Amino acid sequence: MRKKVIAGNWKMNNDLMESEKLIVELKNLLQNEKPNCDVIICPPFTSLSEASKLVKGSVIKLGAQNMYFEESGAFTGEVSASMLKSVGCEYVILGHSERRNIFDENDKMINKKIKKALSAELKPIFCVGELLEERENGTTKEVIKKQVLKGLESVSADEMQSIIIAYEPVWAIGTGKTATPAQAQEVHEFIRDLIEIEYSMEVSMNLVILYGGSVKPDNAKQLLSQIDIDGALVGGACLKADSFMGIIKGA
Ligand code: PEP
Repeated sequence: MRKKVIAGNWKMNNDLMESEKLIVELKNLLQNEKPNCDVIICPPFTSLSEASKLVKGSVIKLGAQNMYFEESGAFTGEVSASMLKSVGCEYVILGHSERRNIFDENDKMINKKIKKALSAELKPIFCVGELLEERENGTTKEVIKKQVLKGLESVSADEMQSIIIAYEPVWAIGTGKTATPAQAQEVHEFIRDLIEIEYSMEVSMNLVILYGGSVKPDNAKQLLSQIDIDGALVGGACLKADSFMGIIKGA
């Protein structure tokens, strides 16, 4: 039985003080609940160290939003996997559509990042998703297949135990337009089948696949009740403790 996962991607929001405030509020809300899911927050790099101290002893786990695939050296502005580990990260979001589309990250680079994260014992939250025009011209599954297979190139069945895949249709991110539960389920099932073909039934059945794209407290329950949707990657709605909590309760 797969455990549900609710992950919050803070994106480029919250300075140090705002981060501390949000984490304290979330911890207070979680204190009175026994969440039926894993809760992950992914603050910006500048808040990770402090966030790591604040989440200690709570159910909240820590992730970063990106990293570079090299170990160290002349890569101005980049952050390595071991640096993320050193500030207490357990997870890292890789291949987010904003990284792909604003910062031109391609499947090859994302694959290098995934392999580096795994070798540093960071768990990738590997994002895939089609653009609006790709959905409209009927190539969604083709696009997802390419992103999944290229992103996971030479990742072993054993390493797959540490990977979470997030299906995030680009047209649903930050737009208020959510995929219907049926649309999301169809792609999640497609991804799970693909993993079964590439790896095994066991790997595919254990794989956690999150949905992301305008998840809110009022649509979370319906999405999360789909058989292949194991949780949510949440952007906008994770920036307020009560709305993130609403989604956690939906799980
Ligand atoms: C995201 O950025 O991963 C995301 C899903 O954003 P939002 O929930 O705001 O659509």
